[in-house]
Amino acid sequence: MLSRADILFGKIAINAGMVSQDQIDECIHIQEKAPEPKPLGMILIEKGYISEKQLEEIIEIQKRNLQEKAIHSRFKREDGLFGRLVIRFGFATEDQVNEAVRIQAKMEDDLFMRMGEVMVRKGFLTNEQVTKILDYQKKKILTCPKCSTQFNVIMFQPGALIKCYKCQNELVVPEQLVSVAAEDHPASGTPGVPVAPGITPPPLPRPAVAAAIAAAAPKTPPPPARPGASPPPAPKAG
Ligand SMILES: [Zn+2]
Repeated sequence: MLSRADILFGKIAINAGMVSQDQIDECIHIQEKAPEPKPLGMILIEKGYISEKQLEEIIEIQKRNLQEKAIHSRFKREDGLFGRLVIRFGFATEDQVNEAVRIQAKMEDDLFMRMGEVMVRKGFLTNEQVTKILDYQKKKILTCPKCSTQFNVIMFQPGALIKCYKCQNELVVPEQLVSVAAEDHPASGTPGVPVAPGITPPPLPRPAVAAAIAAAAPKTPPPPARPGASPPPAPKAG
């Protein structure tokens, strides 16, 4: 019986160009006939299709993929809050947020993008607006001067020394944000800490946005437009 782990293992080995589909099929066949359960990787080694070193590489990739999946699902939860703040700040409409969520959901794991980045790429938000929301959430984008990786640091304290977890260089506040693409720094905040407690809420949404939120609320159909009623003001660009 082929386990889920073995299916993944085979996929990774093929994608990495280490083995062919035929070799995998052959080893699965051997596995099925084996009297004792044996991992697919062991059979591939016994057949001489992969080396011990390649086996380790595949296991490493497998681990990384799982970690990425876990991180991405956490990002998606956080991005839900980000999306609500975008609407609350009146930076974008609920439709635009929903579209960004749909785009993000379709992304493969290796192309995963944070909601802020998706919305900037779609032209729904500016870098400055994303920064404003991150500031509100007490997140600060720091950058590594050595490897140029950008990190979201939660509950950032000015002057705090935070190291790049990739190259151990000290992170700095970028003079100018080139892009809002950033990874969450593992050293940032404690998971579960409420975001920005005690922060003054942003000003009430502009009427058009309030109307959009009301229209999107479940079981409350938008009121029919009264003849002669003036349309809500269009959201200002920028
Ligand atoms: Zn670095």
